[in-house]
Amino acid sequence: MLIQKFGGTSVGSAQRIKDLVKLVVSPTQKIVVLSAMSGTTNALVEINNALYSKKTSHANELISNLKNNYLKVIAELYSKPESLAKATNLITNHFEYIKNFTMDMFTANEEKAILAQGELLSTAMFHYYLEEIGIDSVLLPALNFMRIDANDEPDMNYIETNLKLELAKFSKTILFITQGYICRNSFGEIDNLKRGGSDYTASIIGAAIRSEEVQIWTDIDGMHNNDPRIVNKTHPIKELSFDEAAELAYFGAKILHPTCILPAQKRNIPVRLKNTMEPEAEGTLIANLITKEGIKAVAAKDDIIAINIKSDRMLLAHGFLRAVFEIFERFKTPIDMITTSEVAVSLTIDKNLHLDEILKELKEIAVVEVEKDQTIICIVGQLPKGKPGYGFKILEALKDIPLRMVSYGGSANNISVLVSSAHKKDALMALNKGIFNY
Ligand code: ASP
Ligand code: MG
Repeated sequence: MLIQKFGGTSVGSAQRIKDLVKLVVSPTQKIVVLSAMSGTTNALVEINNALYSKKTSHANELISNLKNNYLKVIAELYSKPESLAKATNLITNHFEYIKNFTMDMFTANEEKAILAQGELLSTAMFHYYLEEIGIDSVLLPALNFMRIDANDEPDMNYIETNLKLELAKFSKTILFITQGYICRNSFGEIDNLKRGGSDYTASIIGAAIRSEEVQIWTDIDGMHNNDPRIVNKTHPIKELSFDEAAELAYFGAKILHPTCILPAQKRNIPVRLKNTMEPEAEGTLIANLITKEGIKAVAAKDDIIAINIKSDRMLLAHGFLRAVFEIFERFKTPIDMITTSEVAVSLTIDKNLHLDEILKELKEIAVVEVEKDQTIICIVGQLPKGKPGYGFKILEALKDIPLRMVSYGGSANNISVLVSSAHKKDALMALNKGIFNY
């Protein structure tokens, strides 16, 4: 069974929804995972904010605006009066449900329930459209099988068992449709896999049923060697190993959700990035492959905070790094990059939720300096550690850029540097020239 995930822009208008048909209808049995129509989840977040701050009339206005957008879409999407009536009913029900919350106390559970409406709508609308044009499909309710555990991790056993139960009800069906992003939590309440989580849904489903391939369809032709929004010339990458793709997704290549790779990688399910606008293009294949040696891509991650921790006690002492790491651990704050000298360590974080508390505790054991607005530039590929040349090539390309940290040798797939965000554009351009000859 194949998994195909389509993002918000691929279902972003009546025309785009119609255009999806030719991409999903084939003799291959598949599960199609859909995001909400583009803009919807953001609009739902705004509605939540208004409800939370008790701005009821503003919330009502936002709700009506969004509802009207949907009414316009369905008027264009369906041509048979029965389908239009059914879709009107669907939209009325979902928006009545959202409106109900304006009268009550507003809690975190309700917020999640509202956020789930976008995917519930897009999948039902697509399902009705297929029905109208005479194509059989089954709508699988993600809330019946997608679940996260108490640590917010996908509950793979539960998902596998329950998804298989759902699928077994329809042994002859070729085309299944389900919602990305939404799930239940360990209490059975409606929850989600965090923003952009539909990719994650696709990978989890692919892993759960040991799919032959997970396809992530977006509107660019795969993962590129550099950020096309910043540099003039880039090219799509044909193949990436799971490890290379995970580094790129984590360090800023926007095309793929960072956590998406993991479930597929664990069960060795290939992930293919495809372009909705250019379905024939190869895209990028991410799999358990030994790819060619060399640098494949660079990506940048902004909003990084660098923390320099210096202590005489580190000199010839053991246990100092543990004391430092324990502080980050206590505040559940992941560390991205680390470099050390005999008396100091520099590290980076991208979550500043507990920055003040962390700094307070660090200052009890060391002299601490903080620099905000930093960017990690990560250079990814097959870069065997013992081989000469790669470090030189990167540093030579970056010779005019002030570097704050350099991390080399942690993995054979990644060399990272930290620069002030003001130098990010120049750094990406310099790498594009020095490494990719653009
Ligand atoms: N609709 C959700 C979001 O906008 C999930 C997704 O699109 O992947 O974040
Ligand atoms: Mg996305």
